[in-house]
Amino acid sequence: MVSLSLNYHYMQLPREVIVGKGTLNRVSEVTSRLGLRGKALIIAGSTSYSIAGKTVFSQLEQADLQVDVLHVKALSTTDVITIEKHIEASKPQVLFGVGGGTIIDAAKISSRTQKIPFISIPTTVSHDGIASPLASIKGSDKPYSILAQAPLAIIADTDVISQAPWRFVISGCGDVISKLIAVKDWKLAHDKLNEYYGEYAASLALMSAKLVIQNADVIISHKEKGLRILLEALISCGVAMSIAGSSRPCSGSEHLFSHALDIINSHHAMHGEQCGVGSILTAYLYRANWQKIRSTLKEIGAPTTAEELGVKDVDIVKALEIAGKIRPERYTILQKLNLSPEACEKTARATGIIN
Ligand SMILES: [Zn+2]
Repeated sequence: MVSLSLNYHYMQLPREVIVGKGTLNRVSEVTSRLGLRGKALIIAGSTSYSIAGKTVFSQLEQADLQVDVLHVKALSTTDVITIEKHIEASKPQVLFGVGGGTIIDAAKISSRTQKIPFISIPTTVSHDGIASPLASIKGSDKPYSILAQAPLAIIADTDVISQAPWRFVISGCGDVISKLIAVKDWKLAHDKLNEYYGEYAASLALMSAKLVIQNADVIISHKEKGLRILLEALISCGVAMSIAGSSRPCSGSEHLFSHALDIINSHHAMHGEQCGVGSILTAYLYRANWQKIRSTLKEIGAPTTAEELGVKDVDIVKALEIAGKIRPERYTILQKLNLSPEACEKTARATGIIN
């Protein structure tokens, strides 16, 4: 999809982004502006269908589209194949992913392989995948995200998103704050290895992180304004990745730490919570202001210790040890420092993540 050759740089961006109260009622308006006709397929989980998918369904019927629904329970490589087969058989013009991050990732991957556009309708704000061109699938051989395609449109209804557990908001904040480190790693790879570095994409990711940090008090007030700040930050991060043509502006050593935790033991904490703790550790390695990252995460109510993450102390140390090795082509501070097990333990202790 994206070429990073010296001759040209390809960016695929969303055409419409609608964020706010009651935006689900604008689905038919969006489809007619985009000139979508014929068949549409909605993929959703059972909860996301009842809280949002039903409205999308009736909106699409109002817009004279023939609508089909595929309920998805789990999301593994085989589930994606099922969705792809369904698309192949019913030949929709457009796919709507209605749900949390995993449903949207499945929509992103299956629509790309079947060469149709997809529209992202998030029901949670737990990570930046709601607007990015990258997706990850559980059970695949890669624990990190791969390039799929950017959504044609994003319709984020804060009335729907506010119904999700508060922990999703905390995770979303952790994911955005982690861009402070991801951008440092990207710059480091540029300086050391002459890797492509895009100032505009980097600035957009950094600005999103700074806005979430500055507005932490508004976000924790549980008001609509705070949710919109977080949503817009997550969408800007997705756009930053579209501009960069990779996850570089949004995923560095702190994300590798989170992927390493998933490898050691999947099911302990949420992606953004793990990236938040990863950011404290890697900010320390950069001799950056890790205390500010920790205090902001604490203010938001995000985990800042192994215990709060539900992870054993030894697993934190182990994750830091293996993080730099899971994705050799992604140069970060972890490869630069090549920490010994003792240095990993010292880092985790110095930042108060383990006792
Ligand atoms: Zn992330």
